Amino acid sequence: METQRLENFRAETRAWLAAHCPAGARGPGPIPNGSTKIKIGHRDTLAWLDLMIEKGWTVPDWPKEYGGAALGKEEYLVLLEEMRRIDARPPLSGFGTSMLGPTLLEFGTDLQKQTHLPRIARAAVEWCQGYSEPGAGSDLASLRTRAEDKGDHFVINGQKTWTSGAQFADWMFILVRTDPDAPKHQGISFLLLPMDQPGVRVKPIRLISGESPFNETFFDNAIASKEDLVGELNRGWSVGKRLLQHERSGMQSLVRGSAGEGEANLPAQAKAALGEAGGKVADPAYRSQVLAYEMNNRAFRLCQRRAVEESDGGAPGPVSSIFKIYGSELQQQHDDLLTKMRGVQGFGAEREATRQWLFYRAFSIYSGSNEIQRNILAKRVLGLPD
Ligand SMILES: Cc1cc2nc3c(=O)[nH]c(=O)nc-3n(C[C@H](O)[C@H](O)[C@H](O)COP(=O)(O)OP(=O)(O)OC[C@H]3O[C@@H](n4cnc5c(N)ncnc54)[C@H](O)[C@@H]3O)c2cc1C
Repeated sequence: METQRLENFRAETRAWLAAHCPAGARGPGPIPNGSTKIKIGHRDTLAWLDLMIEKGWTVPDWPKEYGGAALGKEEYLVLLEEMRRIDARPPLSGFGTSMLGPTLLEFGTDLQKQTHLPRIARAAVEWCQGYSEPGAGSDLASLRTRAEDKGDHFVINGQKTWTSGAQFADWMFILVRTDPDAPKHQGISFLLLPMDQPGVRVKPIRLISGESPFNETFFDNAIASKEDLVGELNRGWSVGKRLLQHERSGMQSLVRGSAGEGEANLPAQAKAALGEAGGKVADPAYRSQVLAYEMNNRAFRLCQRRAVEESDGGAPGPVSSIFKIYGSELQQQHDDLLTKMRGVQGFGAEREATRQWLFYRAFSIYSGSNEIQRNILAKRVLGLPD
């Protein structure tokens, strides 16, 4: 009975996607993040976004009242599989759908959910993450940005750094110190604040490539409303930690693993770079490396899928660190192999591939470095001493 229901859902989804997903929304291409400061000029991308918003499929597992489609876990996985089958890009990505939304569903007040979730679901806002500071990266709980309680609002002073996309974000979720005298994990709160206000200044950090994917963000008497305190005052550490688990979780990687993530079809790329013999990659040494990568990648995807299927209530735990470690290492192996196979074409001439190779060097650092993920696994999963 259950299987029949899923089979029907698969058939309906497949037919709907075939009829509605525009050709220009398949394969690599732009993925909107909801920012009101970025104009999307790509017609098919916009059409795809509108159609998926209407279906509730920008955030398929969220309740309908917040713009989702209330899909169960199994249906959501079927939808992802069917999208991947036709190489459809995710219609929407960003900090709102993958991190803040799931966290608000768990910790937010009714008002916070009603105010913020539908805007995320219909791509009307993009968020950024105000966690790291110049003196607080891996040791995040040392953060010093202060928020003072002024009755109906907080006044914030301090600095964040490495704030990805802050120059395009409309709102920030931020960890602030609200009790400087409490032990460091216990004096932190989780707030939401609008970026467009006089007390917030964003200064892009320029990289050697000339690009500025992230920023320093300064707060000089910035204001956050009391209504935008998520969870209890001074108990923001658990909220902030849960958000990071969502960032690293199996489900999010499954969603991101759809088309458009720059994960090229490696065997096809290898044949294009090295030639083909009898339908196989011509060079036997590279052929075996491509095969090894493909096997590891498929095993990883299946493992993620199993973890998502087995998770209860969708809330990821410390095990999500495994996905962060292995997923980032696999992505880096993929990019290394592709670059080596392309030889002199690997750099410079193939600018997109070069940027991708460089970008994913950072994958083992952002969202908590892989060393820190290993510490989490040692302590929280294996129960080893601190
Ligand atoms: C591309 C990119 C985007 C980012 N985007 C954001 C963002 O949007 N918002 C945000 O808040 N932050 C962001 N960050 C910051 C990121 O979270 C931090 O860089 C990361 O947590 C590491 O902190 P750190 O840079 O201060 O390094 P440090 O904490 O100084 O660590 C330096 C090195 O020491 C190692 N190390 C530190 N402590 C330990 C330990 N206890 N055990 C073992 N090894 C240890 C680390 O693994 C690392 O290799 C981003 C970073 C990058 C690279």
